[in-house]
Amino acid sequence: MKVDVLIVGAGAAGLASAYSAKKEGAKSVLVLEKGDSLGGILNQCIHSGFGLSFYKEELTGPEFAERLAKEALEEGFDLRFGASILSLTKDKTATFIDKEGFHEVQFKSVILAAGSYERSAGAIALPGARIAGVLTAGQAQQYLNYYGLLPGKRCFILGSGDIGLIMARRLTLEGAKVLGVAEICPYSNGLRRNIVQCLDDFSIPLYLSTTVSKVFGTNRLEGIELSKVNEKKEIIPNTEKVVECDALILSVGLIPNNQLYDLLQIRRNGARGSAVDEHNMTELEGFFAAGNALHVHDLVDHVAEEGISAGKWAARYANNEYLPSKKKIEVRAGEGISYLLPSYLRLDQEEESLSFLFRVKNVEGAGTVLYRLNGEIIHKVNRPFLLPSEMEKEKVPFSLLKGKEGVLEVSYQRREG
Ligand SMILES: Cc1cc2nc3c(=O)[nH]c(=O)nc-3n(C[C@H](O)[C@H](O)[C@H](O)COP(=O)(O)OP(=O)(O)OC[C@H]3O[C@@H](n4cnc5c(N)ncnc54)[C@H](O)[C@@H]3O)c2cc1C
Repeated sequence: MKVDVLIVGAGAAGLASAYSAKKEGAKSVLVLEKGDSLGGILNQCIHSGFGLSFYKEELTGPEFAERLAKEALEEGFDLRFGASILSLTKDKTATFIDKEGFHEVQFKSVILAAGSYERSAGAIALPGARIAGVLTAGQAQQYLNYYGLLPGKRCFILGSGDIGLIMARRLTLEGAKVLGVAEICPYSNGLRRNIVQCLDDFSIPLYLSTTVSKVFGTNRLEGIELSKVNEKKEIIPNTEKVVECDALILSVGLIPNNQLYDLLQIRRNGARGSAVDEHNMTELEGFFAAGNALHVHDLVDHVAEEGISAGKWAARYANNEYLPSKKKIEVRAGEGISYLLPSYLRLDQEEESLSFLFRVKNVEGAGTVLYRLNGEIIHKVNRPFLLPSEMEKEKVPFSLLKGKEGVLEVSYQRREG
């Protein structure tokens, strides 16, 4: 097979990429999806809160997926379900298997949009045996929303990210007793709206600076031990408290599904995805990334926007309408910033502004986001506060960087007092 643009994954990022690549003039677009439906993780997120900026409407996950899939299908692209990609090489050949067998495909551009995976009990070295009743939030969501099965009657949630918060509400609405949510950080890792709507509205307690220090039970979970932690996240002795429960739901983080690019030794960004430029292209020409495979997003709207950008530049590259220039500016996360994208700028296409996405390391009060080019401040944005749980998006006028080279460092300086 030969295609202009190959896309791995048919979640929001893959669908938006396919839509945009076709709109931009790619003659052939092939999407490989290892599952059997379009929309990815959106299909199990039956709550509302999707699409507020992309569609200017509040939709549920499946509604967002259906709308985006319809728009992409109308543009026309080839699709293989049950297709798992096995390899990618620098000479632009991919191999995959589906129910018809093994295939090889040559492409001009590829977009990695394979989403993310959940950290498991092993990944956080949860003490105790791997017994029934300990499951990830995504698994619990699948049990409930796909199969109509309640994962437990007395549930406890570890991790206050959005998935954990949403599951606290969902389990409560389905008749389970949610005894609490424990969070190892001194602040919640979820969106503020989710803390109010999913915990406060149902009087579910949130235990900050707390973790699970033991799990009890032989075949099935019977209880957990909670302990307080200090600033270094070490357990403080004599703070233990036992909670009887039959399900422990782990909402302890997502990791970009980036192994295929790791095999090509594509440099990583600070969020464990791949380093990309302002057009979502990695350091390997013609290799792009978008969505949770690039960095984990809170909002699908940003995922879809990234897919639109990746699709557009992948199509232009495939059509020989875009030849990337050399890297002009390296972008670095400075003080207070945990990660920042893009990782470098080519500045080869003049636009009104450049978008930067970042998260802060800690809860920050009023201060200023500083953009320093080769040590000199070129742009400042005052912010009332910033939270690590919320991804920030800021635009910087292109004119400030036009024709420049060197290192751009972005940092957050908290205002005194
Ligand atoms: C529980 C939960 C609640 C959320 N709540 C909100 C909300 O309220 N509002 C909001 O805006 N956003 C929310 N989000 C975020 C948003 O929905 C996601 O960030 C977004 O949908 C991710 O899209 P994606 O395409 O990057 O990844 P995914 O949706 O994960 O899609 C990746 C696709 O790639 C496929 N794939 C993986 N590996 C391979 C392979 N090797 N070969 C072929 N295919 C492969 C997968 O099967 C999948 O279909 C939520 C997310 C979750 C998990």
